Amino acid sequence: MDIGFIGLGSMGHAMAANLLRAGHQVSVWNRSPDKARDLVREGARLAERACDVAPASGIVVTMLSDDAALRDVVQGEHGIGQRLGEGGIHVSMSTVSPQTAQDLSALHAARGTHYVAAPVFGRPDAAAAAKLFVLCAGPQAARQAVQPALEAMGQRVFELGDDAAAANVLKLSGNFMLMAAIESLAEAMTLGERYGLPRERTAEVLTQSIFPAPAMVNYGRQIAQHSYQPAGFKLSLGLKDADLVLGAARKVAMPMPLAQLVQARLLSALARQRGDMDWSAAAIGVSEDAGLQATPATRA
Ligand code: NAP
Repeated sequence: MDIGFIGLGSMGHAMAANLLRAGHQVSVWNRSPDKARDLVREGARLAERACDVAPASGIVVTMLSDDAALRDVVQGEHGIGQRLGEGGIHVSMSTVSPQTAQDLSALHAARGTHYVAAPVFGRPDAAAAAKLFVLCAGPQAARQAVQPALEAMGQRVFELGDDAAAANVLKLSGNFMLMAAIESLAEAMTLGERYGLPRERTAEVLTQSIFPAPAMVNYGRQIAQHSYQPAGFKLSLGLKDADLVLGAARKVAMPMPLAQLVQARLLSALARQRGDMDWSAAAIGVSEDAGLQATPATRA
């Protein structure tokens, strides 16, 4: 397939590389072009402007930070919206609001193109191993057409129907559970630490008995060791997701008190210059509130 790819950050770079490895023709664009260099060596074509990646009636994948970046890449001066030909498909894999999915779906439909929402679960290591879980929603024929591309990037594609926003709602629900898990792991380990239990021991016992989920195991290890750099998922982007969760809940008049708590935790971490750390660095605030220093040296 002839595929355009926009957004070569921690996730997008690895995803574009997997499309290339699967034998697709890939054109790439990134705001900072340096990040495309090795992909070009592997056979990608580097586009000068976002709109230049769009193959006529082909597929364009976007993997960008947030709603504003996505809207700019679609609707901005050199946006793909201008160039994607009739029947073209925009596969939008960033974590964005359900509202943006609805707006962009309408915009594409008015131009005779299609919008498929395909946000993912999995961190950069999973992206590199083509092990992402893809949540896919949008017009059925377009979803079918992009299956080979999604399968080249992920281990499983969950089909969620014709309404693109559904995929984004589910992605936000999952990230809400992850941020709550980080908070609960940090509180559990810190409580143990105050009573003399090594953090690693608490993480080990809890994740090998009642909570053996991969996310609990992996975040448990990181939080036990206070190991937050380099970031797999930046805390600033985690805060963006907490805001998106609460925005989506507000729209349907649904209180989410736990989401408010973790949003405040992430906001406080941002104020303490931790925005570029992994979002599990929210756990530092839990230690600080308990009068402990959150450095690897505090490990018992
Ligand atoms: P990242 O490393 O910060 O990369 C962000 C990408 O967006 C970069 O290519 C960046 O370009 C581009 N960008 C930002 N603002 C832009 C703008 N105004 N115009 C054009 N391009 C812009 O983030 P990431 O970790 O790859 O995450 C990407 C998306 O995937 C986010 O929505 C995130 O929530 C989601 N996600 C992340 C993970 C994870 O574990 N990291 C997991 C699942 C989903 P530059 O290179 O020029 O900065």
